[in-house]
Amino acid sequence: MNYGKRGIVAQARALNSGTDKWGKKISLFGLYAALSLMIGTVIIGSSAGLGVFNGIRDTSPDITNISVTPKGFSTFVYDTDGNQIAKLVSTDSNRIPVTWDMIPENLANAFVAIEDNRFYEHNGIDIQGIIRAGVEGIKSGGDFSQGASTITQQLIKNNVFSGWTNEATMQKIKRKIQEQYLAVQLEKTMSKQEILLNYLNTINLGSNTLGVQAASLRYFNKSCSELTLSESACIAAITQNPSRYNPITHPEKNAERRKKVLNDMCKYGFITEVERDSALEDDVYSRIQNVNQETGGDSTVNSYFVDALTNDVLDDLIAAGYNETQAYTLLYSGGLKIYSTQDSKIQAICDEVYQNEENYPAGTKWLLSYELSVQSPDGTVTNHSTEMYQSYYKERIKGFNLLYSSEEAAQEAIDAYKADVMGEGDTVLGEKITLTPQPQVSITVEDHSTGYVVAMVGGRGQKTASRTLNRATDAYRQPGSTFKVLSTYAPGIDSAGLTLATVFNDAPFAYDNGTLVKNWWGSEYRGLNTVRTAIRDSMNVIAVEAFTLITPQLGYDYLKNFGFTTITDGVVINGKVYSDIQQSTALGGLTFGVKNIELNAAYAAIANGGVYIEPKLYTKIVDHDGNVIIDNTEPKSKRVLKETTAFLLTSAMSDVVTSGTGGSVNFGTTAIAGKTGTTTNYVDVWFAGYTNYYTATTWTGYDNNAHMSDPAEKNLSKTMWRKVMSKIHEDLPYSGFSVPSGIVTATVCSRSGKAPIEGLCNGTLMSEYFEEGTVPTESCDVHYAGTMCAIDGRPATEFCPFKTAGVFELTPEVPAALQSGFVNYTPTNSAYTTVTDENGNEVRVLNTCHHTGEFMTQEGIDAIIAAEQAQAIAAAQAAQAAAQAANPEAPAPEQPATDSVVNEVPADVSAGN
Ligand SMILES: [Zn+2]
Ligand SMILES: [Zn+2]
Repeated sequence: MNYGKRGIVAQARALNSGTDKWGKKISLFGLYAALSLMIGTVIIGSSAGLGVFNGIRDTSPDITNISVTPKGFSTFVYDTDGNQIAKLVSTDSNRIPVTWDMIPENLANAFVAIEDNRFYEHNGIDIQGIIRAGVEGIKSGGDFSQGASTITQQLIKNNVFSGWTNEATMQKIKRKIQEQYLAVQLEKTMSKQEILLNYLNTINLGSNTLGVQAASLRYFNKSCSELTLSESACIAAITQNPSRYNPITHPEKNAERRKKVLNDMCKYGFITEVERDSALEDDVYSRIQNVNQETGGDSTVNSYFVDALTNDVLDDLIAAGYNETQAYTLLYSGGLKIYSTQDSKIQAICDEVYQNEENYPAGTKWLLSYELSVQSPDGTVTNHSTEMYQSYYKERIKGFNLLYSSEEAAQEAIDAYKADVMGEGDTVLGEKITLTPQPQVSITVEDHSTGYVVAMVGGRGQKTASRTLNRATDAYRQPGSTFKVLSTYAPGIDSAGLTLATVFNDAPFAYDNGTLVKNWWGSEYRGLNTVRTAIRDSMNVIAVEAFTLITPQLGYDYLKNFGFTTITDGVVINGKVYSDIQQSTALGGLTFGVKNIELNAAYAAIANGGVYIEPKLYTKIVDHDGNVIIDNTEPKSKRVLKETTAFLLTSAMSDVVTSGTGGSVNFGTTAIAGKTGTTTNYVDVWFAGYTNYYTATTWTGYDNNAHMSDPAEKNLSKTMWRKVMSKIHEDLPYSGFSVPSGIVTATVCSRSGKAPIEGLCNGTLMSEYFEEGTVPTESCDVHYAGTMCAIDGRPATEFCPFKTAGVFELTPEVPAALQSGFVNYTPTNSAYTTVTDENGNEVRVLNTCHHTGEFMTQEGIDAIIAAEQAQAIAAAQAAQAAAQAANPEAPAPEQPATDSVVNEVPADVSAGN
């Protein structure tokens, strides 16, 4: 038999190309497609020739060209320059073919019963099953893709590849018929036993195993020839969906399916009811070993980039129509060429920086992950997990969190644990000790003009296996303040009327639940500040105010557009509903957190002038025969911000680097914009930033969420960002951020963010960028010249007895949406109220003091005024005493002069809102 791969591909293509004609004919039948499928099946089954199906037979391949035995062609990965960066090693070490005499009858029968109970009767296709599936399909309204795939068909499907991707419904039906045709042909050249054996040797059985022998060794640590009925059923249960029915990760799902396997075996006469019942009683899951036996052979460890690429390719192949087994087999032994987006020069810079332990703070801790499988003399297997180990030590060491100060200390503790938990005659079946240095790190570097991820690092320390935890692509971490720009200021400026000059009041402000929003620097409040300053200094209170004003829903919508897949608009966890459409999202307090690669892609959208591009790790995949099977070249892009908004954010985030919280990243050879991010207790620290060339995001934190306290740990994200990006930009010329059309500059009053009033705002003028048409026209509502009431701190009425004349700063009106959040808010303590006049226009009315004409003419006014005066004096004295108590050296505050009718009333009695 010719098992040549070339032959397979050739014949598969011949099938595809030769089917256009009959494909069109079938489509003429329109709604009767299903019927055609059934009829077609019957016809092929009986080898009769008829009309539309002649095409298939005429172009039918020589069946001797079909190979169902995988050949193990290696897949190669290339960088952007075409250099090979990885060879995806065929998982031959995990595929251990066995001969028929090693397959227990029950094992073979378990697969037959659950996958294809008429296997020994049909000729490759199961006509009875197809007719039933066809009828079901018609009933269900047209889903014919499911049902009645025989073991022979599955064998072909899993091992013969063609351009069976991105199929429309008609193509799916065509493919189904092709599959059926090939199945019938294969049955003519191979015995049932050969077909079943090939199937059992190649089927994907989860946990990186192909074939029953690899699975048997992996799960039960013995050859498949020794599998019991109960264990055989457990393995056969995995087949339909190796992730979902994995007996280690989803034992409860596997158990349901295993029950069905055993019931079906009984139903079809493979086993007796007694055998079934006794198998069902067996607690097979307690024997499954969680720990991988060390396997020999080629154990190439792939990089984090290649790991992430591998996951993407598998996902994309499955999305394109391959099943899990096909995708897996194709990737590891299909001889693919994958053209990645990695820039090897930049990856080398990242590796050099991140692999150099000297770049990390002293006092590295080691986080232990521990698994142990122990067998007692009576055969019982006990699995010890990291959680069991941790609770064992928690009982002995208060606050034990799996962190050790050295690898030796960890090993000592492990030895003590084993000595305690293992009994006489126990043997270790498997043990897995993983010590990961902490704090951990990640970085993603993207060319934001193309969406190419050019480099990534998913952790520090020696990488001992492929597809380990990748902190750049898999870990969900809280983004902290890096989110303020994305959740709040981007949508605010883009579509909710904010400008960089908009002023908010940094004052006691509470979330809807009453909890005060805290600034990172402590309890002090900084009063009126612009959005630009709030971004530069990463002000929390103002971010929450702005987010509340623009509405959490708008912020959430923008975040979705920025490509975050881990945010949620409602999820039930332990009976409680969580949603990210709420105020703490402003500061990056999320239900689940974000992935580094997605946070980086969102910043890349700002760097790219407001156009988001889905980040990608490869551009195309070519099969062993040179056909492009996935073309990922075209960027998946969309505009998420106006170009002007992107520029304004960039301008503000340049301040972060030149004079704000991110100063230490500034390597000086090109313009940089970015944002720091720190979560409570320094659990996560980020820097997301960009130049005109690249966007990079760095993260630092402990895998177990321990708090960082060492300043070097807290600064590590910024330190690493600078180290990597300065090297990347070494030979690149300086490039400043250019101002796009649609941006104007204007002078405003920095206290109000509004049009300055000549003579009043002269000391606080500032120049700011605005999107054309958004320059404020309203005049300053902070600066005020006139008389103030010393009792109220508001502009005085003409009747006020406590007037002080001069130039004052007023607290601007609080927008209605924020009033309930301001802890000290009363309707009159802001200087203005907006009312609608008789013409329907909104007008700003000055809130004057309470000494109205009516107030001043009431009965007993002299006593009232005297009392107010006494109260004011008492308050002033108390304040003075408090100030002196706090700082005895300080001189008593000067009493300002007053022109009020009553002397000696300090003007500042009610100052400060
Ligand atoms: Zn002003
Ligand atoms: Zn007054």
